[in-house]
Amino acid sequence: MKQLLRQRLIWLLIIGVAVLGAGAILFFQRRAYVRDLETKHSYWNSQIAELQPEIELGTFADQKVDDFIVNLHKQIAVLSYKYAIYKSIASHPELFPAQQVNNAESELQKIVPELKRYKTDRTYMAFAWIDYLMLRIDESLLRELVWAFKKIANFQFRITENHLSYSLLKEGPYVLKGQIVGLQGCSGICTGTHVHFVTYEDAKIVDPCKLLPRRPLTVWGISDKCGVAENKKKIDWPVYIPWIITQKYDTISPVLNNTHGALDIIDREHFPVIAAHSGWIKRETKPCPNAPICVDGAAKVVTICQHPTCKKGLTTEYWHLDWMVGEEIDKEEEL
Ligand SMILES: [Zn+2]
Repeated sequence: MKQLLRQRLIWLLIIGVAVLGAGAILFFQRRAYVRDLETKHSYWNSQIAELQPEIELGTFADQKVDDFIVNLHKQIAVLSYKYAIYKSIASHPELFPAQQVNNAESELQKIVPELKRYKTDRTYMAFAWIDYLMLRIDESLLRELVWAFKKIANFQFRITENHLSYSLLKEGPYVLKGQIVGLQGCSGICTGTHVHFVTYEDAKIVDPCKLLPRRPLTVWGISDKCGVAENKKKIDWPVYIPWIITQKYDTISPVLNNTHGALDIIDREHFPVIAAHSGWIKRETKPCPNAPICVDGAAKVVTICQHPTCKKGLTTEYWHLDWMVGEEIDKEEEL
């Protein structure tokens, strides 16, 4: 009887110690977590205090590209620190008073869209800047290359534009898939070389990534994908090495503040833009009155239509070219 009691007491003691131990571990863990968070919060707050007064947000119309990007980076950093602080509070309601948690939640709702907006801006501008730097490489080689591209383009065009099977239809000049239709540039509403690539199916605008074959890409230094499986593609990429996307379809355009109905692709300034599919080609210069920026006074735009009316099948537009197929070639031209 006594022995049983002793056994039970020992068991109770063991359980008691275990419960106390677990409690202590939880208590110290929580305290360590709160301390860690407090350290982080004070560091993030110090960063905000340091950066915030320096920020001079402008537009690229009144700021140099470099200044604009630096300011954007700082603004994004401040918003990111604020996001981290509020997120850590909102996701641990057991550690903070209810009012603080509520406040953090409402701040997060404001910060998230703002952060997204500035990140789109940064994407756009940073690539404009990178491309501007890339352009400075070996000017003489580039000049020879550009001249060759133009020669090849016009030679190809001379063969296809009045090709017997198409000219009989008298629907205007024709190009074949893969043919050079222009060179990448930055004419019109543009802050850095890219192809603003618009795609339509039966005259309805569609996301180019739903038609293109899939490629690994860089969207602001982050690897991303665009396109469908090779056997499901309807068109080909409009540049040789489509490795940078500066703006995806359906994002907010920082320049015009509207929804971007195109894919902005960079390969290399003055490098070929190629027909994504065969079709009738239109070449236009579209002026941009009242735009915040309008390089060369107008955008050079090539449109290719599978159907002569452009109302059926695939239609693709290639914007901001610095030269269109069929234009004159001047070997001495400044790049
Ligand atoms: Zn665009």
